[in-house]
Amino acid sequence: MSRYCKSNEPSAEMLIKMIRAKDETSNMEKRTVRCPYCQHSALIVYADARGHVQTKCKNCGHEVLFDVVSMRRIKR
Ligand SMILES: [Zn+2]
Repeated sequence: MSRYCKSNEPSAEMLIKMIRAKDETSNMEKRTVRCPYCQHSALIVYADARGHVQTKCKNCGHEVLFDVVSMRRIKR
């Protein structure tokens, strides 16, 4: 029954992390990873991303698991 559960606002600590992350990624190369089901842009991956990420497509609702490193090797 924590009051944090009711809040829709990120905590101060989280806000600081978000601002820092925005700073760190402002000059970073990024790619859009598209949902394999509907081609909606599901995720933005930055150059320093490693490992696996999971996201739920906002368009079709499919949960998609990506291996960021292996996706990176696929270059056109
Ligand atoms: Zn989708």
